[in-house]
Amino acid sequence: MRKRFLAVILGIIMTFAFIGCSNSKTKEAVRPIVIQGAMDVETQSLVKQLQNAEKVTYGGWTFWKGTIDKFPVVIAKTEIGMTNAAASTLLAIEKFNPRAIINQGTAGGHDPQLHRCDIVIGKKSVNFGAFRSEHGDYNKGIHSENWIPMNIEVNVNGEIKEFKDFEGDAQLIKSAKSVANLYKKGKVVEGVIGSADQWNRELDRIKWLNKKYGTSVEEMETASAAQVAKSYNVPFLGIRILSNSEVNNEEYDRNSGEYCQNYVLEVTKTLIKEYSK
Ligand code: SAH
Repeated sequence: MRKRFLAVILGIIMTFAFIGCSNSKTKEAVRPIVIQGAMDVETQSLVKQLQNAEKVTYGGWTFWKGTIDKFPVVIAKTEIGMTNAAASTLLAIEKFNPRAIINQGTAGGHDPQLHRCDIVIGKKSVNFGAFRSEHGDYNKGIHSENWIPMNIEVNVNGEIKEFKDFEGDAQLIKSAKSVANLYKKGKVVEGVIGSADQWNRELDRIKWLNKKYGTSVEEMETASAAQVAKSYNVPFLGIRILSNSEVNNEEYDRNSGEYCQNYVLEVTKTLIKEYSK
């Protein structure tokens, strides 16, 4: 009787141990890809591609969970700007434990070689809103061209590290480049994505930013999302389309957000193939 009782107990323990084990395995296998965009025009085409989409909100941040080619994908609407992007990225990492994060959407051209609807794969992103200035006396004016860029400090694995900029993940860059030939609305280049809560239209300022940081484009989210991803060591890549270019006198193209999503969909499908190997 006693032996039988012990055998039953042992059986129950082993069943739970097995469930625990297989659970942690499946969890590892299904870490989703998170794709971020700030606005509806930068997210809703991708949301339409999701199978079994489920909308979840935390505070003011919206996410759609579903699958593409049977692989889990979360589309995040970060809302506009650096703080929104950081908050949305933090939520995405804590709630969904993503395998990779792609931040994508529209941007304004800094590089005169780039035109509306060209796409920039972010080999780097840089927060160009972080500055300090030397002392200036009253009535000596404001000279933003003399302001000195400041590094960003990030706690990575318990250690504070300084970053001049954030590198895009090499594997993600490779996957993004591998489908460049499928994009027909413009060219696809590797470049530097500059981020700040700014919309710059002064040509001298744009030229200065382009010289100082090598920025291909400016927008308001990527470097902020990259910073949070860096702290968790989650592979990250920015992909931005030029919706406008002040330097080439090209105004906002309303379809560019959709073109960018179509391209990012191809990148995602390639990644899914790699992750499913
Ligand atoms: N023009 C749009 C609003 C864009 S707001 C409208 O009226 O509907 C700014 C958003 O567009 C940000 O998310 C930013 O990432 C992106 N963006 C596009 N072009 C930009 C530019 N030239 N400078 C800064 N941000 C830009």
